[in-house]
Amino acid sequence: MYTAVALDGPAGAGKSSIAKRAAKALDFIYVDTGALYRTIGYAATLDGIEPVDSPEVDALLAKTKVDLTFNDKGEQIVLLNGEDVSGFIRTPEASMTASKISAIPKVRAFLLDLQRNMAKTHNVIMDGRDIGTVVLPDAQVKIFLTASPEARAQRRYKELLEKGMDVNYEDILSDVKERDYNDSHRATAPLKPAEGCVIVDTTELDFEQSVEKIISVIKETI
Ligand code: C5P
Repeated sequence: MYTAVALDGPAGAGKSSIAKRAAKALDFIYVDTGALYRTIGYAATLDGIEPVDSPEVDALLAKTKVDLTFNDKGEQIVLLNGEDVSGFIRTPEASMTASKISAIPKVRAFLLDLQRNMAKTHNVIMDGRDIGTVVLPDAQVKIFLTASPEARAQRRYKELLEKGMDVNYEDILSDVKERDYNDSHRATAPLKPAEGCVIVDTTELDFEQSVEKIISVIKETI
């Protein structure tokens, strides 16, 4: 029997970096489900397909295979038809395409088994939007990690600057708000705290404090 931690929350709350550290400390596998939606979005972009519910997206899914694997350092690698696309899915454009394409029910259904199978075969911290509500409703631990839109935009801005990207804070803040709106207003699996989850607000916490808080919530529950 494996343990699952469902970690949901809006874009930029720090879920991935916090979850990576917590997973390492607990010897769990960290699964980043956003990368899966980003990969479908990337596949659509490659084929010049709009991220809207359409026969073109159905045809794309029919010929697409997405897999998750891990490198020697335990980092997640996402494969699109066998090819590592991890390096192509982190741009602001890819974020927006992922947000749009993830609203399509068939896209969500397409990725469901892959996510559930990870939790059937490993102890996982799985990060996403609907992990506690839809993907792993029986997860032993459910956490909703959030922070104010401004704090989240500021963090993402710093992160992208450090990667050498030419970005503007106001654009990122408006992207964060647009993605929050898309994620929480879609009809299928909208972003919302799962029943019985612990809500952790990191607006006033630094990274180390956030990691400690998440680890202590997990340890108290399992
Ligand atoms: O977490 P990340 O920002 O990488 O996710 C990219 C997009 O994928 C999100 O804006 C969200 O719309 C979508 N997503 C989702 N369900 C998940 C994970 C991500 O809808 N479980």
